[in-house]
Amino acid sequence: RLYLDHNATTPLRPEARAAMLAALDVTGSASSVHAEGRAARRIVEEAREKVASLVGAAAKAVVFVSGATEANATALTPHWRRGPADRPLEHCLVSAVEHASVLAGGRFAPDRVEMLPVDGAGRADLPAWSARMADLRQANERPLVSLMLANNETGVLQPVAALAEAVQAAGGVLHADAAQAAGKIAISMATLRADLLTLSGHKLGGPFGSGALVLASEALHLAEPLIAGGGQERGARAGTENLPAIAGFGAAAEAAARDLAAEAVRQRALQGRLEAGLGRIAPDVVVFGQGAERLPNTICFAVPGIPAETTLMALDLQGVAVSSGSACSSGKVRASHVLKAMAVVPDLASGAIRVSLGRSTAAEDVERFLAVFHRVHRTIYEKRRMRAA
Ligand code: PLP
Repeated sequence: RLYLDHNATTPLRPEARAAMLAALDVTGSASSVHAEGRAARRIVEEAREKVASLVGAAAKAVVFVSGATEANATALTPHWRRGPADRPLEHCLVSAVEHASVLAGGRFAPDRVEMLPVDGAGRADLPAWSARMADLRQANERPLVSLMLANNETGVLQPVAALAEAVQAAGGVLHADAAQAAGKIAISMATLRADLLTLSGHKLGGPFGSGALVLASEALHLAEPLIAGGGQERGARAGTENLPAIAGFGAAAEAAARDLAAEAVRQRALQGRLEAGLGRIAPDVVVFGQGAERLPNTICFAVPGIPAETTLMALDLQGVAVSSGSACSSGKVRASHVLKAMAVVPDLASGAIRVSLGRSTAAEDVERFLAVFHRVHRTIYEKRRMRAA
């Protein structure tokens, strides 16, 4: 099998597996004061350092949660406070290309969640966003603004830092979902200038069910946590710490940070090779978001007139796993809201295939993908011609 669906999930790193196996044998709860508890606490705090270091944050800024979905649900709330006199945030502004877990709007009332537009390449339409924030500032209504760092379907990168000033001026809070970006491109909380950052463990070689919400400033605190109870994670997320998941996430984050620069260059070259190959096989191929800065591992494309299911199933039968539309949904192929927001015509959007590379992807894998795709493409066209004749 050839697995080219690393944006859906990427295999567990050996370092993460080893850390998880070791953590499974720890008896204590990280909240207990005895030696067993202290051993568990050490594992949690070491992992916290590693995750923080991947994004240039202080260790105490990291809140461990069960994944990016929970991090997004925690982040999207009116209950962030900078000072005791702060009132709840009134609005939630999200881009039209966010992951479903952000579009859901967290704890904001549905009529307080607004979708803001992107341009044809999938980037936030900054003048429209700034105008909306200026309106809110005038009305003295504070927004929570959520813009993802990298899109899961197209890999397109967003100008998060460019929004920071306008969000601050409106007294708002800026959140960035970096579930897809972390481990693929360098991230520094200081240059990103977001107040909150979402991370997912299994997208960077950690286990499923691990993730973090990173807070840029100690002044910012959650007046009402999403999950209340025993006060773990400094009151931001209750529940006995999931030791193996946290240990695995930490080890994966450390390994990802180590490999990042070399992998980005290597995968960028493979991305170029794959796209050039697609252009030779199908000169009418459209690569989405090609005009924008993108992740080095993601290629989202369509060949006009060929539905994604047809290609996807044919590739699967030939041993190649890729995805179409948004893979996080039920496995059913439906029109992508991301491509729709980019004003891609429905016919073309219904053919969108996402190939996402990972650290196990070699140059030969790209050649094998192209050879299989070439065969599949030719067969589909021949069948069409025979049916038309
Ligand atoms: N955000 C983005 C951009 C994603 O791509 C995904 C998963 O595909 C998620 C959030 C959800 O991540 P998790 O599986 O960790 O809940």
